[in-house]
Amino acid sequence: MQSRTCKFYIISKLSEHKVYSQTLKQKKLKKDNLLIEDYIENSDLSNDDAGDDHISTGLETPMKKDSIAMSDKEKKVKISHLFKEIMDVLGLDLSDDSLKDTPNRVAKMYIEEIFSGLNPANKPKISLFENKYRYKQMLVEKDITFYSNCEHHFVPFTGKAHVAYVSSGKVIGLSKLNRIVQYYAKRPQVQERLTNQIAEDLKEILNTNDVAVIIDAKHLCVSSRGVKDNTSSTITSYYGGIFEDSAKITELQNYINK
Ligand SMILES: [Zn+2]
Repeated sequence: MQSRTCKFYIISKLSEHKVYSQTLKQKKLKKDNLLIEDYIENSDLSNDDAGDDHISTGLETPMKKDSIAMSDKEKKVKISHLFKEIMDVLGLDLSDDSLKDTPNRVAKMYIEEIFSGLNPANKPKISLFENKYRYKQMLVEKDITFYSNCEHHFVPFTGKAHVAYVSSGKVIGLSKLNRIVQYYAKRPQVQERLTNQIAEDLKEILNTNDVAVIIDAKHLCVSSRGVKDNTSSTITSYYGGIFEDSAKITELQNYINK
């Protein structure tokens, strides 16, 4: 094949490939749209779907492999544009003084505040100290107020976390226990996963299995919509090491209920 023909051949193959992959993309988009339409038309959103049942898929927050490829600044710009779209689709007048900065406010709040725990760079820096007091009993940090967001509906769930551990030789600054709870809460979450993520991290940091976490929370997706139950709350727990012993659980619960 002469070089000009060859070049033409390659270009025509490339454009064929482009057309082929565009058709594939369109097909996928059409399929996705049909699935979304099917979900919206046929599932009863106010009742028992997987979201309302708050099914958790695993210990790790499901993240894309390249989740930190985009800078926080780029994420904020993109979220602001996308949120503007949502508001526009809802029919809101974005030239109104009260609404015009909402997309920017939401973008800033998502990245810097309520979803800041998705960025590993925001993980609290922890330093440990020698257990000089030779304190051997459980240490309980109770009533840690947290605000999180349900990953199925993107509305808040909020409550108290109680964290306990027995030192294996090192101790942790008390405020760090609060910071670990806040870090994992500031993600789209499921309460069971939040409980286990805090416990697993504490076990690793403190080099012990003797860790307990109890969370009592109210979910706005249960109270403000769906089943609209204003009084129920959800309790989850993790008992590791010596906390698997029922006497220890009772001791811990006595401290918490004091
Ligand atoms: Zn929910």
